[in-house]
Amino acid sequence: MKQGTLPEYDYDIIIIGGGPAGYTAGIYAARAALKTLLIEGESSVSQITITDMIENYPGIPEGIGGFELMQLFKKQALKFGLEILSKDVTGIKKSSASPVWEVTSSDKVFKTLSIIAATGAMWRSLGVSGESEFAGKGVSYCATCDGPFYRNRDVIVVGGGDTAIQEALFLTHFAKKVVVIHRRDRLRAAGMLQSRAFAEKKIEFVWNSTVSEITGTDFVTGVKVKNIQTGGLSEISADGIFIFVGRLPYTEIFKGLVETDKTGFIVTDENMRTNAQGLFAAGDCRAKLFRQVVTAAGDGANAVNSAELYIDEVKGQTY
Ligand code: NAP
Repeated sequence: MKQGTLPEYDYDIIIIGGGPAGYTAGIYAARAALKTLLIEGESSVSQITITDMIENYPGIPEGIGGFELMQLFKKQALKFGLEILSKDVTGIKKSSASPVWEVTSSDKVFKTLSIIAATGAMWRSLGVSGESEFAGKGVSYCATCDGPFYRNRDVIVVGGGDTAIQEALFLTHFAKKVVVIHRRDRLRAAGMLQSRAFAEKKIEFVWNSTVSEITGTDFVTGVKVKNIQTGGLSEISADGIFIFVGRLPYTEIFKGLVETDKTGFIVTDENMRTNAQGLFAAGDCRAKLFRQVVTAAGDGANAVNSAELYIDEVKGQTY
């Protein structure tokens, strides 16, 4: 399509989401002089901002708090002139006849040639007493992030899927003992992971059981467990509890606009392109295996590159 035929629009790119993927996209887009607006939620916070310590983000050997790291991302994006709006997005639409997307936020409609969805995901919680109270004080949803803090200590893993078993195996590199508590008598995890876990001497299983309470004083000291077959109650001592009972994406606003997997994660190709023209996705909200700050940042950069190629094509500027 030639530039002259383009309908009016306000932005080349609107990025939705203010986490590592969104802000990396913001840095790349603003630095590339693309007219860009980043809309970060008014009522939600990026999962990373509640992460106590990040030790594996390259280039920061001393580690950094999640909130502090996001402040640095934001500072860098502002340096390149990124426009930021801290309001919730309430609607997104596009007619098939036009390349222009309409994004509604704070009662305004913004017109854009492309969107980068970077809305993230949140770990599914157990919803038991003590879980939010001890978050970051022994309750964790990321073994890669927090496992090294549990050297020679006892930890609990809740869940029986691929993530739970993979992370339980990872935790054996640090912990003295890993107790896996699962609500059924067999694992959902892939056979190969199961075989490795059953062969691992540091891992013990507690079957047919759910955690009814996480206990502690300043820090987690253990859990109360209920056997759902017998109704019997017991307590297990531990220094940390890792909860891996699935993850939920924040993709409600994209429902019906783009292909998702059965949990709602947005399906992309390796260049962050979705099946919807002009809509790209980056970070934890997209269907992928490894969700880390560094992988979200990589997605954000890739999404801008793909969006830029797409925008050039829409403007008729490819060469
Ligand atoms: P998942 O497959 O949905 O498994 C969640 C686990 O948590 C299940 O064992 C489930 O029990 C349990 N659970 C759910 N709600 C619970 C509750 N309220 N209380 C106690 N237990 C509860 O999630 P995931 O393990 O995070 O995996 C997500 C996707 O990523 C899957 O498709 C998985 O295959 C994929 N993945 C792949 C790899 C790999 O290939 N290496 C690694 C990680 C993840 P039930 O079994 O009884 O339902």
